[in-house]
Amino acid sequence: MNELEIAQNATKEPIEQICARLNIDRKKYEPIGNYIAKVQIPSEKKLDNDKLVLVTAMNSTPAGEGKTTLSIGLADAMNARGYNTVLALREPSMGPVMGRKGGATGGGYSQVVPRAEIDLHFTGDFHAIQIANNTLAALIDNDIYQGNPHQLDPKSIIFTRILDVNDRALREIVIGLGSRVNGVTRPDQFEITAASELMAILCLAEDYVDLKKRIGSILIGFTYSGEPVTVDQLGFAGPIAAILSKALRPNLVQTLDHTPVFMHGGPFANIAHGANSILATKLALKYGDYAITEAGFGADLGAEKFIDLVSRKLGTLPKVIVIVASVRSLKFQVLGSMTDMQKENVAAVKEGYVNLQQHLNNLTKTGIKVVVGINKFTNDTEEELAALTQLLDQDHFNWAISETYELGADGGKQLAELVHQQLEKPISKVERFYDSSDDLETKIEKVATKVYHADGIELSPAARKSLAELKKFHWDELPICIAKTPQSFSDDAGLLGAPKGFTLQIRDLLPKLGAGFIVVYTGKILTMPGLPQHPAALDIDLDAKGNILGPV
Ligand code: ADP
Ligand code: MG
Repeated sequence: MNELEIAQNATKEPIEQICARLNIDRKKYEPIGNYIAKVQIPSEKKLDNDKLVLVTAMNSTPAGEGKTTLSIGLADAMNARGYNTVLALREPSMGPVMGRKGGATGGGYSQVVPRAEIDLHFTGDFHAIQIANNTLAALIDNDIYQGNPHQLDPKSIIFTRILDVNDRALREIVIGLGSRVNGVTRPDQFEITAASELMAILCLAEDYVDLKKRIGSILIGFTYSGEPVTVDQLGFAGPIAAILSKALRPNLVQTLDHTPVFMHGGPFANIAHGANSILATKLALKYGDYAITEAGFGADLGAEKFIDLVSRKLGTLPKVIVIVASVRSLKFQVLGSMTDMQKENVAAVKEGYVNLQQHLNNLTKTGIKVVVGINKFTNDTEEELAALTQLLDQDHFNWAISETYELGADGGKQLAELVHQQLEKPISKVERFYDSSDDLETKIEKVATKVYHADGIELSPAARKSLAELKKFHWDELPICIAKTPQSFSDDAGLLGAPKGFTLQIRDLLPKLGAGFIVVYTGKILTMPGLPQHPAALDIDLDAKGNILGPV
């Protein structure tokens, strides 16, 4: 059976049954169809349960590393061993679903269902964000057209339009072309929904009040005399928060083994903060004895942001971090392409290990317990796996091989026991990569040197100008969210392994006052992806009975 058939043939539990097992009161959830529910947001400010596992990875191949697959497999394996575990995951963005990567519901016998519904539209959260965002954009342009009472300089507007489609043609546009009734002509751009400030706000908001407050704080641009203009000043926070009210409630679904999954929010980790909503993680901690969540891309992006940014808002640090590694990702660090991936290459596994080793050393320094989850692929040879495990043993890292893709929960026994054992150990002091009190340049420098192992940072003239402005308004006290290629520790996608002797190039800085962080754009990173030569969309179809075929 292929992945799609496994999901289609799965016996799902009615969502009421999942809720009953979790002891979620019937008044606290709303079923959507038979297998999905929206759950009320938790009232607790902070939860007592700190048994949180964060799944992250080494730098992966363009096809992904298997973090979602392994997170699901680990959760199923923990439940199979009697450790009551609940998952919190991001919901898929249709950009990658139709673009390069395909779906985001795991793979093989480690999947979240109902797969096609989740991958295509799900409960409409992304659409709600898109409409809320574009309504706000229309309200802003209308305000300018209707006499511009706030004296907003159209050329200074940083709030952009968004779409959940990989569409490179929309990266730079001009709006308001034509006659005067079409509004004021100005440059604009589309970003992908997963990179938007409203997505970040949805994922970081604590409740409805916080949601509206954050929306009100969004910086739109500046007046002609250089004063900042926020959404609150224009009076638009109410309707935008209202559009997002349902989307703020986390979605509940299940794995093939009926492990509960709170799947909610979906910021990318390269151009956004890369974690599911804090509300979903809170619910997983509330209803599970153990909670597992995934941070996007490599540990240089998702895990750094989880430790420095998300955990501060969540109020809980992960107790254990699982770094997903695979033979093929190690080989990719040397080969730089998927072409010869099927051939055994022990030397490349050994050479590529420096990438995994650097991630492991970085995270071990935080004081959080770190284990390696080796995601086994069918083509991995015994010799290749032995080369990897020998290197891990030499460096005294804890590891377990996961075969949940092929075997389901049975394939995750060792990893489940290892993670459980680490979760029960007492935690010592945890050190984040930077302090909240560090100034903006120090924060960027600390991540660049401690996590990426750059020699230092270099600011472009535009970045220097932005920095001066951020300082002027005291926004430089906010945490950072670095936008960087996921392929390399550096800002250059071509530098694989554990590159040394580079300087992190800072292109620009942008305040996202509603999200509560400063986005730091490095290298050539783009906030609207394009489609590849063979988009994953071409592998999706609809049959005569209305069944969705794909993504495979
Ligand atoms: P990530 O979360 O790291 O991006 P995913 O878990 O989404 O990665 O996996 C990426 C792709 O690789 C998916 O299509 C998944 O089905 C596939 N995959 C993951 N693990 C395995 C495995 N062990 N064997 C074969 N395919 C796998
Ligand atoms: Mg994933």
